[in-house]
Amino acid sequence: MRKIFVNIICNLSYTNKMLKLMWKNDKLYIIYLLLDIVVWSIVPFVNVYLVQESIQMLETGANFQEYIPIIVGLIVGNLLLNYIHNYLNYKRDLHGSMISVILYKNIFVKTLNLDYEKIIDKNVQEMRELSLRIIDNSRFSTMTVAFHNVVSSIIVITGISYLLAKIDFWILFIVLIIVIVNSISVMYRNKYERKVNIDINPIIKKIQYFMGIGSNYSYIKEMKLFSMNNNVINEYVNLQKEMHKGVDKIRRLSLFGYTISHICQAILNIVIYLYLGYRILVNKDLSIAEFSVFLAAVVNFNGAIQSIVTSHLQINNNGQYLKDYFEFMKIKNIVEDESIKQDLIIKEQNIIEFKNVSYRYPNQESYAIRNLSLKLNTGKKLAIVGENGSGKTTLVMLLMRMIDPTEGEILFNGINIKYFKIDEYRKMFSTVFQDFKLFAFTIKDNVSALSNEIQETIDAKVNHALSSIGLGEKMNSLSKGINTYIEQIYDKEGVLLSGGESQRVAIARALYKDSPIFILDEPTAALDPRVEYAIYSKFEEFTQNKTTLYITHRLSSTRFCDEIVVLKNGKITELGSHKELMKINGYYSELFNMQAQYYTEKSSGTKNE
Ligand code: ADP
Repeated sequence: MRKIFVNIICNLSYTNKMLKLMWKNDKLYIIYLLLDIVVWSIVPFVNVYLVQESIQMLETGANFQEYIPIIVGLIVGNLLLNYIHNYLNYKRDLHGSMISVILYKNIFVKTLNLDYEKIIDKNVQEMRELSLRIIDNSRFSTMTVAFHNVVSSIIVITGISYLLAKIDFWILFIVLIIVIVNSISVMYRNKYERKVNIDINPIIKKIQYFMGIGSNYSYIKEMKLFSMNNNVINEYVNLQKEMHKGVDKIRRLSLFGYTISHICQAILNIVIYLYLGYRILVNKDLSIAEFSVFLAAVVNFNGAIQSIVTSHLQINNNGQYLKDYFEFMKIKNIVEDESIKQDLIIKEQNIIEFKNVSYRYPNQESYAIRNLSLKLNTGKKLAIVGENGSGKTTLVMLLMRMIDPTEGEILFNGINIKYFKIDEYRKMFSTVFQDFKLFAFTIKDNVSALSNEIQETIDAKVNHALSSIGLGEKMNSLSKGINTYIEQIYDKEGVLLSGGESQRVAIARALYKDSPIFILDEPTAALDPRVEYAIYSKFEEFTQNKTTLYITHRLSSTRFCDEIVVLKNGKITELGSHKELMKINGYYSELFNMQAQYYTEKSSGTKNE
């Protein structure tokens, strides 16, 4: 009992949150919803009244002329109410079908505004995944419809109880008990059904995975190569069998549930027909009209209670997802502190200093950067070298203030970078990360980052950036030039770029931004070394008088850098110019000699271009 009570309270709070959210996002939806509650609550009474009036008139031998307008009026009234109900439903559904889009926008905006540190946090990612489930399967509309049904059912139950109690209070009581027993059985059936559904969820996931395999040529190729077809098909057949067992459980449950419902219905009918029959035939204190009203009222009464039970379950099931949505929307950012701001003054010569900086990723025990101190002078070419996982990208993330040090501080011209407006500060960097992404928009939009400048300016700057990085010819070869879409989501004639071309477009985006500091994360290992070298050389040309920072473990470009930082396990192990580091005979010189040997021994092709 206590559990049911707690459930009801929870559902009230979910409903309240849902209505508030809906009101905030789309007021008309709520208005249509409320109007429909009123209309839909009147319909059962019109029906009951129609039965009562018609039978009473027939019983008392009323005038046919009087009979016609009342009956036709009631039927047309009913028709009208149903039409209004359908119209309001249509309007509400129209607004309702946009709610998923609106809620997704809220989640999207929230995600984009979250600190990077939050975004990479597994817990936050999980919360986001959970919050997204509110927009699946029209959960939101299910909940609002459930709310609508609960309220209109309460109105109907109150009115009909009054009607029934007027005829016989005790029969109302008996009806109530039978209907409640039936409802409890429905409730348990639904609960068990949900449990079975949860149990078969992993099987459904696996089946979906197999469907994905079937439409992915890479998997098919792999299966052919290793003669896996039969075994993979057997795996699928086993899943099919497991799925069948789960579905069978649900179907049997329905069979059992319907049997209980029908038994309850039969008991209800026996009690009503016998009791009312006794009063009409033996006691003679009940009219046929009252008998008919009673029957019609019981049907509506039963329907309303069932509707409350089902709606309660729907609110309960879907409310959980609403809770997840609100939890995600509540996450607070930490990076941007509005209270302390300094103006960012960029001088001719600037110094960025890492002072004893350590960084640990969320939920990680070990540090990615440990007690790192480093002074970077702008206007120079710097390289960060180190094995995978040595902390190169993390260092750049800290520098760009995508993440904040766990310990220590980073200073720009002596001021902690925390005190600058974050957007202003990040404007100083044009960065191309290893895992850069191009959007399925036009090449122009990708390069200009959807800039709001004048079209002619954008076109000129985009063309300049693209030709600087060696993509001029490629653009000329495309019939729509820089207005060509990348991929074929927006335009069937979109272009599919190779790895090297994509990277150049990403670099062109950085060139277009033209910030004082350029950062180039190592090109993907999939790139051919010659292509990589060509990209670096072009990049070099363009950024001649700028501060550039290369992250790399291929040393074709480090030779030309003023300063090279070698990282190992988040710490600086070597620091100096190419010459200096070659002299030390440490990791850098070892790596450089090894690669020099590799390049001279093996002549490379240009497979990736
Ligand atoms: P590099 O760029 O030199 O390959 P990274 O800076 O990417 O190295 O990574 C440094 C260390 O931090 C590695 O041990 C890596 O596993 C860890 N790391 C990187 N990104 C994350 C993350 N998002 N969450 C947890 N650990 C991470």
